Amino acid sequence: MRIEEVKVMRKVRIGPIVYQIVEVDGLKENGRGLFGEVKYGSCEIRVEGRNCGQQKRQTIWHEVVHIILTQVGLAKDAGREGLVDSLAYGMLQVVQDNPWLVKAFEEDDAG
Ligand SMILES: [Zn+2]
Repeated sequence: MRIEEVKVMRKVRIGPIVYQIVEVDGLKENGRGLFGEVKYGSCEIRVEGRNCGQQKRQTIWHEVVHIILTQVGLAKDAGREGLVDSLAYGMLQVVQDNPWLVKAFEEDDAG
């Protein structure tokens, strides 16, 4: 993999592990372009930096679903890209179209 540019975005806690979200321009695996990938060993979610913001958000959700399924012992399902993608698109749509839902969690955290 050739990394042309790396930009650190945010962190996301999934289960007991905090993953660093990193933007990489020219993300590839075996010569094939990728939208994203999880590096479990280094606790990173890598996202193609040249994609538009909407696609980056979808990719982050996609990788989050991979991680959740892996953590709960459903590694076989974690490898089903169609399942992972459909869950990621569904969750992204619900969060985008219902911002009150996310705010309600923030308000709960505030006490
Ligand atoms: Zn995937």
